[in-house]
Amino acid sequence: MTDHTDVVVIGGGQAGLAAGYHLRRLGLDFVILDAQATPGGAWQHTWDSLHLFSPAAYSCLPGRLMSPQPGETYPDAAHVVSYLTDYEQRYELPVVRPVRVEAVHRDGDHLRVEGDTGTWRARAVMSATGTWWRPFVPAVPGRTEFKGTQLHTVEYRRPADGARQRVIVVGGGNSGAQIAADVAYDTDLTWVTLREPHYLADDIDGRALFDHATARRRALDGGGTDTGGVASLGDIVAVPPVREARDAGLLKAQPMFTRVTTTGVEWADGTTAEADAIIWCTGFRPALAHLAPLGLRGPRGHIPTHGTQAVDEPRLHLLGYGDWTGPASATLIGVGRPAREAARQIAGLLGAA
Ligand code: FAD
Repeated sequence: MTDHTDVVVIGGGQAGLAAGYHLRRLGLDFVILDAQATPGGAWQHTWDSLHLFSPAAYSCLPGRLMSPQPGETYPDAAHVVSYLTDYEQRYELPVVRPVRVEAVHRDGDHLRVEGDTGTWRARAVMSATGTWWRPFVPAVPGRTEFKGTQLHTVEYRRPADGARQRVIVVGGGNSGAQIAADVAYDTDLTWVTLREPHYLADDIDGRALFDHATARRRALDGGGTDTGGVASLGDIVAVPPVREARDAGLLKAQPMFTRVTTTGVEWADGTTAEADAIIWCTGFRPALAHLAPLGLRGPRGHIPTHGTQAVDEPRLHLLGYGDWTGPASATLIGVGRPAREAARQIAGLLGAA
């Protein structure tokens, strides 16, 4: 059976919900298809100790403040899941789950969205599937020969799982620093980063990052000089647990090794470190496999866009994957603006504006 609607939003995490908020305001007929059985997107799957890098007031979707979490300056992931659950109910967003979209095809003047439980024909599609679902691990020689445990960020949960083990954490971004800090007290930790860890100043958190992204957007909108993405400020937000572990001398980074052995890792000068587990905090790629039939892929697995709109398929918008779909669009507070722009453009395309 095929359902018909104006717009299909693929993904019911924060980006998909922000899209739904604006589509509803514009009076469009739409459905949000989400692969998860319950609300909250990727926030349902993070490690136990993860907290936001911004206070609640700086972590809101359009229309609704996130209430502070009692006793916490920076809310934890469970608090975000509650907020998203409430958000989707409050605005009565039409989320259908679990539905995994497998393919999007051109179908005359429509796009056909094929899911594992049904098919939808839509005049426009917003893809908001995030990156959590495509963990990236670099092709380091010997990686498949390691006899210990290998995890990616998406599989790590808590330090007790590796207590008293020799653990190598790879990655100098926020996930790497936070997971290294998490395991530093209970394990024999080796932290490995591509370059010397680059911390933001201790008093900078997600608020300043968002202000920076806003200033950049204004500069670009006004035809000014690009002030650089938030990465220009540093790689690691010094959230309290990272600061504490760093100041206790527990976060001493080693340069990247050249190969993995059966029992650990080896550097170019022949130095080795034995390990029971390697945790790869080496990033993500956008989860875009369902769009493959449209033949739109560009460099680095991205789809070329003007703002959120796919250059070669104007009926398709991409939302939330990273700065390439709008400055700060991969954050709670930053996704509202590109969601609004995308919804407006779709309304214009459909003649509903
Ligand atoms: P997701 O939350 O991943 O939601 C996408 C949804 O789409 C999921 O429910 C998924 O199941 C579904 N989906 C995927 N593929 C399909 C498919 N084919 N068919 C149907 N459904 C599909 N941002 C902040 O603002 N503050 C922070 O402090 C912060 N900390 C972060 C910490 C970490 C470790 C990470 C990784 C990110 C952090 N972010 C933070 C960034 C960002 O807010 C999150 O990554 C957020 O989860 C992105 O939301 P999203 O809606 O784009 O994607």
